[in-house]
Amino acid sequence: MKAIVKQTAGPGLELVDVRMPSMGVNDVLIRVLKTSICGTDVHIDGWDDWARKTIKPPMTIGHEFVGQVVDFGANVHDVRKGEIVSGEGHIVCGHCRNCRAGRRHLCRETVGVGVNRNGAFAEFISIPVTNVWHADPNIPLEILSCFDPLGNATHTALSFDVLGEDVLITGAGPIGCMAAAIVRYAGARHVVVTDLNPYRLEVARKMGATLAINPQEQDLTQVMQDLGMEEGFDVGLEMSGSAHALKGMIDAMCHGGKIALLGILPERVDLDWNKVIFNMITLKGIYGREMYETWYKMTVMIQAGLDISPVITHRIHYTDFKKGFELMKSGKSGKIVMDWAEVE
Ligand SMILES: [Zn+2]
Ligand SMILES: [Zn+2]
Repeated sequence: MKAIVKQTAGPGLELVDVRMPSMGVNDVLIRVLKTSICGTDVHIDGWDDWARKTIKPPMTIGHEFVGQVVDFGANVHDVRKGEIVSGEGHIVCGHCRNCRAGRRHLCRETVGVGVNRNGAFAEFISIPVTNVWHADPNIPLEILSCFDPLGNATHTALSFDVLGEDVLITGAGPIGCMAAAIVRYAGARHVVVTDLNPYRLEVARKMGATLAINPQEQDLTQVMQDLGMEEGFDVGLEMSGSAHALKGMIDAMCHGGKIALLGILPERVDLDWNKVIFNMITLKGIYGREMYETWYKMTVMIQAGLDISPVITHRIHYTDFKKGFELMKSGKSGKIVMDWAEVE
């Protein structure tokens, strides 16, 4: 089968023929229909420090996908052939304290699909049945292909109550933009998104941001005044991984404000911790999705009318993957969905 593979320890990816994935008794074999490209895939392609430490080539990359069940192992009973499914990209151990308590997103032994084992940028993928998400076939395939990052956005955006609250989102990448749509849908009053990239700010506006601004051109204090906000933002969602953005966010929060952190920050960030302490700010780290409460929530929000389609800005065939990665690097894209239809 065809797959997009990190062949050797260095920059670049190749489209090559690889062996069909093996399927154990607890696994489901899925024919991949659509995948979407993640920032993580771009890091693996570019071979940065993180990739060098984490990835063991040769490995098929990719973790955001939707597909159709073609086969399953002898222990699998609740999956049908032909069923449309997506997959949770974090494979957990199943026997640690958190796993046993149903808090699987907190497992310390998590293995990443397309990061620590072969991934979804291939014609077929095999994953444990416990990682299969039975998708609603009425939801468009391209939206289902984004359920993994939509899950990150949902997990972060619903970490704190946002009904009637003013929300600041730093970072208008696809996950920040999806979070804007979610908090708006969940009843937030003002949703202000910041980013330096005008293309992404435009996507954030389409996704329902009250205001999407470049903080180098527009001062947040002034923005708050213009919106009639007196005490600062109630909830902050840090999606940029920028230390500067986090500092600005802490300054813009109300006393007792709550911040969820998803963006991956530099190892060391100088913060004025007394602002966190005296202003009684809550900081919560977010990783991945809750299994499977987040998957349930995003499914029902989409069924109830949440529209995230403006975040999908490009659709390509997998044989054009290099174009997709170039687009991602240019910053002039939201989600890029790759189609895995067979080549004639
Ligand atoms: Zn991803
Ligand atoms: Zn575990």
